[in-house]
Amino acid sequence: MAEARIIEGRALSDAVEAEVAAEVARLKAEHGLQPGLAVVLVGDDPASQIYVRSKGERSLAAGMHSETHRLPAGTDMETLLALIGRLNADPKVHGILVQLPLPKGLDERRVIDALDPAKDVDGLTLINAGRLASGFPGLTPCTPLGCMMMLRDVHPEGLAGKRAVVVGRSVLVGRPIAQLLLQADCTVTIAHSRTRDLAELCREADILVAAVGRPRMIKGDWIKPGATVIDVGINRVPFDNPEKAAAGKTKVVGDVAYKEALKVAGAVTPAPGGVGLMTVACLLANTVQAAKAQAGL
Ligand code: NDP
Repeated sequence: MAEARIIEGRALSDAVEAEVAAEVARLKAEHGLQPGLAVVLVGDDPASQIYVRSKGERSLAAGMHSETHRLPAGTDMETLLALIGRLNADPKVHGILVQLPLPKGLDERRVIDALDPAKDVDGLTLINAGRLASGFPGLTPCTPLGCMMMLRDVHPEGLAGKRAVVVGRSVLVGRPIAQLLLQADCTVTIAHSRTRDLAELCREADILVAAVGRPRMIKGDWIKPGATVIDVGINRVPFDNPEKAAAGKTKVVGDVAYKEALKVAGAVTPAPGGVGLMTVACLLANTVQAAKAQAGL
């Protein structure tokens, strides 16, 4: 059997970002509107710092107004909520993203729900999550949106009737992906840590989405031959090379045993270089959508 198609995130995310940049230029020229994104980072988690830097750089590259608010790890709820209140009221800011996870001691749900739903570009407020679950338009979480763009690229014929299994049920990833697959008329099963016979369930999937956070958990023989596999996982593991491992160096791998998947799947996303790139592109696209809605366009 031929090796699976690799669903590269770079080409697709570049295309989305080019469309965003063109739309930003049009909005500026025709309506004097510059979409603006504010990213809020609390604490000094190294992975979050990398994500936040990339979000800032790429929103600027698309011609958007961009601001990053870095707060120390010990920030209290009152200070954080006050900042969100100011950003909610700021007309330059059309999208607000609070980088998760927040340090322990901060109430993530309260912080997210303090966002104006119209500016909630990660689609995580209860209002936007409820809209998604009820099939109403709203702002949709960026990573799930990126996964759907990748799936549509592989399946231009449509996804209707396909059997989809999503492993993971988090509010950030698993649940919204399942909702979007359902909207696309897939038959959807959501698996989680209490699911029985997970390998067997995965083998039934035409579309298999892994959003677990466990390195290479999904093995090649869990995958139906020809299936499309979307690997959301970002896990840091020691290098296989013993010298590098001994030096404490780590690398990123997904939730899927990638080399095994290549031999069985029809198409598979790499990690890194897959879904992660789409997440940022979709954040920019959501900010433009939010800016247009706020301007009544
Ligand atoms: P969470 O930890 O919030 O959720 C993990 C989910 O996996 C839970 O629903 C959990 O089940 C389930 N799970 C855990 N262990 C098992 C198991 N042995 N068998 C079956 N299910 C299991 O993680 P997130 O959803 O936030 O993130 C998932 C992964 O995606 C992480 O690696 C994260 O880094 C990555 N990620 C990548 C992004 C990107 O841009 N590419 C963006 C966001 C996340 P239960 O509910 O029962 O506990």
